[in-house]
Amino acid sequence: MGRAPNILLIAVDSLRADRLGCYGYRRPTSPHIDRLAAQGTLFEQYWSPHIPTTPGYGSMLTGKDCFGTGIVGLRQREFAPGCESMAEILGRAGYSTTCVGFTGNAASRGFDRYLDYKAWGSLAEAPLRKAEGLNDVAQPELDRLIGEGKPWFVLLRHMDPHSPYLPPPPYDRLFYWGDECDPAKYSMAPVMSFAPFADFFASWMPPGITDADFIVASYDGAVAYMDACIGRLLHQLEARGVAEETIVVLTADHGETLYDHDCFFDHHGLYDCVLHVPLIVRYPGRVPSGRRLTEAAQHADLLPTLFELAGLKAAVPKDVTGHSLLDVIGGAAARHDAELYLTEATWMRKHGWRTPEWKLIVALEPDFHFKPPVELYDLRADPGEEVNLAHARPEVVSELCRRMEAHITSRTEATGRPSPIEVLVDWHGKAGLGPFRSSEDAYRTLHIGSADSARRLQAGVGQASRAASG
Ligand SMILES: [Zn+2]
Repeated sequence: MGRAPNILLIAVDSLRADRLGCYGYRRPTSPHIDRLAAQGTLFEQYWSPHIPTTPGYGSMLTGKDCFGTGIVGLRQREFAPGCESMAEILGRAGYSTTCVGFTGNAASRGFDRYLDYKAWGSLAEAPLRKAEGLNDVAQPELDRLIGEGKPWFVLLRHMDPHSPYLPPPPYDRLFYWGDECDPAKYSMAPVMSFAPFADFFASWMPPGITDADFIVASYDGAVAYMDACIGRLLHQLEARGVAEETIVVLTADHGETLYDHDCFFDHHGLYDCVLHVPLIVRYPGRVPSGRRLTEAAQHADLLPTLFELAGLKAAVPKDVTGHSLLDVIGGAAARHDAELYLTEATWMRKHGWRTPEWKLIVALEPDFHFKPPVELYDLRADPGEEVNLAHARPEVVSELCRRMEAHITSRTEATGRPSPIEVLVDWHGKAGLGPFRSSEDAYRTLHIGSADSARRLQAGVGQASRAASG
């Protein structure tokens, strides 16, 4: 066995699993990713239990759940003491490490180099060539690293499926034929009347739009555009002769709500469209090609899996909560980690418990959608999570609450720290405000602003949206 393999981690922001052909989507959004899946192993049941971006990548890049990372909010800047990132550990093991498109976030710490590209913009700047901008910085960097002769770890954070969805032609209308401003259509009315996001939507959606199918098709077009650009990167690995010695992983920090659950075109709400993300692993000769696995897995499993594949099992920190998936990749029985503790804290502060049969969502304070404080869904009969059974099935609510609380107790005792979602106070960015007292209070207070203020919010620059300044 030669030197350690390279690791190319394509960690797309806001990519739903069910929008990819290899996950059964009806539209041809992803021929290159589908080919990657055919050459590697695909996990059909892969989950991001802690949303959105910062906790999602935080878990993915440390091998820990939210109790281990201490991160549950988009705006949090510090990991819990003792956390080490994949980049830090691989750096010590002799890897060169580069992060593309994720500078400044707590979850992306520890890389040797950070490269950025233009990933945000308004309608006035359309089309947004995000993935080509990524390739423009990533491809010379891959060439440089390949020439260096050391093993390398590169994280690519693609942003194309993250709003604003403004892909270039022909992808902008690849999946839409018609008039998105047809006065006979009304599906955009509830989107544009949601005041906390209305200014943000107006900054990048066409003026006068009436048909939400156009925005959904724009998301799909952005995925297809990104897929073509990822095809170019994969070809580069082949052309440079390193495809066989490179582990390629494709996943996402979280999914996306499109026209779902009133959480329009964002990624909040602990619904499966936000939690269910792709995981594809290709490593010729070590990971079987064309295999599809139904065992449940989650972001915390990625670090132990990659380290074992890379021959670095001894470097996995002792306190990770994830498990290496190499046994199930090799055909072993499931690990039975099929129940998930869920958290979110960007626009709503909630937690929940997911089993293969049931989803429980509990609000820790009133939310700006005026949703009920407890939601219960029968995932087998109602996979779209449309019918709230919290009142009809109180015994299921009680049992799931009991399991969730037992898990919280077990994890807080193990870490010696309080539950991060329960002690997070300024998650909404308004220092000193405290928890919202009502949904009206949350609805009046929270506001994204423009595409530029959304970008600054996520980069943690000055907490600049009106959510912070009033
Ligand atoms: Zn994200």
